[in-house]
Amino acid sequence: MRVPFVPTDGCCAVCGRPCEGFAGTGGRAVCEECSGRSSAPHFDCAASAVRYEGTIREIIQGYKFNAHLWMRDDFADWLEAAVRTRFAVARVDVVLPMPVSLFHRLDRGYSQCSYIAKELARRIGRIYRPGVVVRCGHPRRQAGLDELSRRENVKGTFAVRRPELVRGRTVLVVDDVMTTGSTLSECARTLKEAGAWRVWCATIARSVRDG
Ligand SMILES: [Zn+2]
Repeated sequence: MRVPFVPTDGCCAVCGRPCEGFAGTGGRAVCEECSGRSSAPHFDCAASAVRYEGTIREIIQGYKFNAHLWMRDDFADWLEAAVRTRFAVARVDVVLPMPVSLFHRLDRGYSQCSYIAKELARRIGRIYRPGVVVRCGHPRRQAGLDELSRRENVKGTFAVRRPELVRGRTVLVVDDVMTTGSTLSECARTLKEAGAWRVWCATIARSVRDG
């Protein structure tokens, strides 16, 4: 199987989206969306390991929804490599998993994202803190919504339970798939409101809308 890794060069310095014409910029160019005052995400930087497409997409969906765990160590390998390439990991103070709603936890009985986040934290030697940021609302499913609707849909759906653990810190939030980044951005906004200094995001996969 060919793994569609996200290239390390030719990507937006903020959201990590592969951009045409950015090759050779050494990750210093910023895409149009991230340059815009109203469209820029609230996180400072995001990294993804692979493109969410083809066989990889099916495998990740199997992992997320059906507890197919056989590739999870590969996911952790890929994520670790992406994070080490993109971030100065020694500056990360705390690693947080993207929280799932209680409904989803009860529904599926497990949380794959927290496994990956915990494993990543162990590998890079940083503190893992589940439960610091939690879901407090039930947004509609994001799939099928355009970007603006996604942003509205997720507004106010996170809360920080223990702000003292993020205040003045560099926080790394780990999720499975990033599409427009609106959910991660809202999570970052909530963390910054609670006093986090920097919010970095890492996801296993990246869904690239335009190809
Ligand atoms: Zn960008």
